[in-house]
Amino acid sequence: MRKKSEFRIDLRLSNIKIKNVTVDSNGDYHVHVSCCDVDGVKCNRCGQLIATSYGQCEETIIEHLPILDQKTYIHVKWPRFVCNYCNDKPTTSFHPEWLNETGKLTKAYEDYILKCLIHSTDKDVALKNRTTTDVIQGIVERRVSTKTDWNNVSPPAIGMYEIALKKGHDSFLTIVSDISNKGEAKILAVIDGRDKEVILPF
Ligand SMILES: [Zn+2]
Repeated sequence: MRKKSEFRIDLRLSNIKIKNVTVDSNGDYHVHVSCCDVDGVKCNRCGQLIATSYGQCEETIIEHLPILDQKTYIHVKWPRFVCNYCNDKPTTSFHPEWLNETGKLTKAYEDYILKCLIHSTDKDVALKNRTTTDVIQGIVERRVSTKTDWNNVSPPAIGMYEIALKKGHDSFLTIVSDISNKGEAKILAVIDGRDKEVILPF
């Protein structure tokens, strides 16, 4: 029986099936999942579609959006596939589209941190989110892009916010987001700088 104050939450992540959820002594959530609906991947080396299973990777722990101000971690072992087209038969593991480049954070979490940086420094954001400035700066570095392909995005309304990376330093970034869907700002680009010269080409 569910308590009267409980409700279900959808993590909005594809290719996973929740096995169980535990809460640690900090009150943080650990969601243990298995991977599902993956028949193959593209070989990292040659790009061919490969479907010969080669077991699983070690467990990875991925940070996702916080739930009720508690951290949320996904524990998963991604399936691995071997390439029979490449000579030395390299393996490639599955990487869902919601996972960031490092495989340690969800893209939704990265977006959330970038939003937290609006009118805040990396130190403030690290403190409030119980993480390190290295993590925050890694996110910013990965997401800074002046090469947005505007052929694929034509939002009717965009928002621009500048963020200061360090207090008192002249280190600013501009976050450009699609604000056409109310309550669902989608980050399009993070531009290095806040001056006319870097913003205008956009
Ligand atoms: Zn290959």
